[in-house]
Amino acid sequence: MTENKCCSSAKEKQGNAGHELVKIEKPTNTCQMCEDYSKNNEQKPVAIMCCEGACLRGEIARQAANILCYKLASDKTVRICLGGAFTKDTGQRSLVREASKLIAIEGCFLECSTRMMKGVIPGLDPKVIIADSLYSFDQNLFSINEMPEEEIRIHAQTVADKLFSDL
Ligand code: SF4
Repeated sequence: MTENKCCSSAKEKQGNAGHELVKIEKPTNTCQMCEDYSKNNEQKPVAIMCCEGACLRGEIARQAANILCYKLASDKTVRICLGGAFTKDTGQRSLVREASKLIAIEGCFLECSTRMMKGVIPGLDPKVIIADSLYSFDQNLFSINEMPEEEIRIHAQTVADKLFSDL
């Protein structure tokens, strides 16, 4: 069995290591399509955030969020644009703030979307799903080019199916 580098470093990184203060430049414009999307989906009871990471784990989490929101449960879930919600206090952030149920699909133990959104919405308490604990794979793999696209899709489907059954 191969060593799980990711999980072994997770053990070292558990706990709160303090905070980093960031200054986010406010946008001068809004995207009307994004605001319309937010308005049109505000009645949905479940908001789905995702870390959107560019590594293999983030990509599987991203695809799982898309499958869940656009195929399995489009009637009750709204897919959050993490960048929009984090960097500006407009419709996407309101979707996160006001959701009856908020789920964060994280590619790995670092929980980036949860930590980001907690920074702009104090007290936020999403249900956090560590996606890479829900499927089996060689945990030494890091980049999306290290796994065939079809296998990535299958793992994403596995994550989405599990989340759907718990909605
Ligand atoms: S949670 Fe993990 S996979 Fe997702 S963005 Fe953060 S470090 Fe990357």
